[in-house]
Amino acid sequence: MATSTVQEDWRGRRKGRQTFELVCPVCKKPYLYQGGPINAAKRQFCSHACAGLGRPHGNVTEATEHPTVRDTAWAAGLFEGEGHSSPTTRGKSTQCNIAQKDVWVLQRCLALFGGSVSKPNKRGVSYWRAYGGRSRGFLMTIYTFLSPWRRRQAEKAIGNA
Ligand SMILES: [Zn+2]
Repeated sequence: MATSTVQEDWRGRRKGRQTFELVCPVCKKPYLYQGGPINAAKRQFCSHACAGLGRPHGNVTEATEHPTVRDTAWAAGLFEGEGHSSPTTRGKSTQCNIAQKDVWVLQRCLALFGGSVSKPNKRGVSYWRAYGGRSRGFLMTIYTFLSPWRRRQAEKAIGNA
């Protein structure tokens, strides 16, 4: 376990971020985790891709259908309006998601492209999510159907991978 600048406040609580040498439970690679000691003691993953595989509620599944051009155009239209793509927070990979209250629509995405669908949040919104190679593949597949603005967002997301 490595340490960095951690200060104790007047109550003796430890504040600030530390760097921990952890081993990813999914890919078994050692990596540096930055955060508080309480979170470091929990199961932490080296990347979103590994978290998707390792967390019990982040059930990543493979596609069960092969998307046709029509399916791809449909998904692009959905992503255009309700989607988002970006580099992941550690800047090493790509993520994309689609927010939607109608879970049927997200299950359709899951069947066509794989990934995961979250439980609804407090506002009743669920998310279809993809990380890493799956996310890059999805963005490249729908790319030609996207608006210039969405294309730039996708390029930024992929370019950082
Ligand atoms: Zn990993």
